[in-house]
Amino acid sequence: GSGGSKRVLILMSDTGGGHRASAQALKAAFDELYPGAIDVDIVDLWTTHAPWPFNKFVEAYQYMAKRPPIWKAFWEYGRFPLTRRITNEVTNIQCHGHFRSALEEYEPDLVVSVHPLCQEVPIRVMKKMGGGAREIPFVTVVTDLGGAHPTWFHRDVDACFVPSDRLAVLARNCGLSPDKIRLHGLPIRPGFWGEQSAKADLQEKLGLKPGVKTCLVVGGGDGVGGLQGIADSVGHKLGEEKAETQVVVVCGTNNEVKTSLEKGSWASNVHMHVKGFVSNMDEWMGAVDCIVTKAGPGTIAEAMIRGLPIMLSAFLPGQEAGNVPFVTEGGFGSFSKDPAKIADTVSRWLRDDALLAEMSSKAREASRPQATYKICSDIGEMLFGSKADLDAGRRGVSTVPAGAGLS
Ligand code: UDP
Repeated sequence: GSGGSKRVLILMSDTGGGHRASAQALKAAFDELYPGAIDVDIVDLWTTHAPWPFNKFVEAYQYMAKRPPIWKAFWEYGRFPLTRRITNEVTNIQCHGHFRSALEEYEPDLVVSVHPLCQEVPIRVMKKMGGGAREIPFVTVVTDLGGAHPTWFHRDVDACFVPSDRLAVLARNCGLSPDKIRLHGLPIRPGFWGEQSAKADLQEKLGLKPGVKTCLVVGGGDGVGGLQGIADSVGHKLGEEKAETQVVVVCGTNNEVKTSLEKGSWASNVHMHVKGFVSNMDEWMGAVDCIVTKAGPGTIAEAMIRGLPIMLSAFLPGQEAGNVPFVTEGGFGSFSKDPAKIADTVSRWLRDDALLAEMSSKAREASRPQATYKICSDIGEMLFGSKADLDAGRRGVSTVPAGAGLS
């Protein structure tokens, strides 16, 4: 690669926010563990390099994600070997040349896919480029959590990084050889990697009343999913109790709900804090006692790291369905779509210190805060022949193997 450093190409597509977030987390960990030695390109392969109609995939996804039955049909369609085969052939014919030009342009030393639809065609292209055998290493980092589409698990990768035991089993069932499956966790952004500030300090910093039991309600990156009804229900239910409590509602980019909640009136023992999109989720999660969220993998993994009991309020059919048993069977959360049940559950949790503590420690024990470092260290080993010193990396000390990046 240029300047003597190694080039890593991360293939993703902006279907939901999670793939780009994971790609950026990996880039941040590469920069920390191998400063100056790895150049990372993050590319929305379909939008940037595929011809029409494949370059409209993100828009199509956004349409389908708002219409769960349509998304479910699409998801199921892709599960059948025959339909998948046909789609793969058609896609390969249409996109092969475009993807080949892209790969020749980026000249990667290693390719990482963080998207279920960035395996099949790129791997075919890379085989062709190598005259039948792929020469450039290729790994997959799965960014779902408790369930995943079978297209994630291409057999001809060098390694497949999975976030959970459930997905390690699924990867095996999809025919991936066990020695290629590596279980480190979901890549999460840097705010969640290190030590957490004391809860009381965070509460003060964020303008919360210290020592008062607090529930965080988040509406996902774009603030969808019945947020208004849930926040209303939780606020009013907690108002019926004697205890003083707090509710933080993070509306994301949903300004309508934000404005409406700001106008709401609540019992005097409930302190409502309404926020728009927050960029310091690591601090908010460190300042509260439990969370209500839809079953997004990123939010669940982050909440687990902060030891938060998780009340799931919705899931997207397909990839998010498995996140529900992941949380409930893990003993650190519950699921209901009904705002009244959500409110009852949260109020019960906040009244019961022993239960909160038990669920909190189960969440924390199952969490994997070092996942991003471990994945990048494994990839670094593939590039340089030795693993990064994770402790040195965290202290900001260069861990670049001798000779790497200097040639
Ligand atoms: N998030 C955030 N600020 C907000 C709302 C959400 O940083 O105001 C983050 C949240 O912490 C998580 C991500 O957005 O990292 C949502 O990812 P998830 O996988 O849960 O769901 P997605 O939106 O990708 O389906």
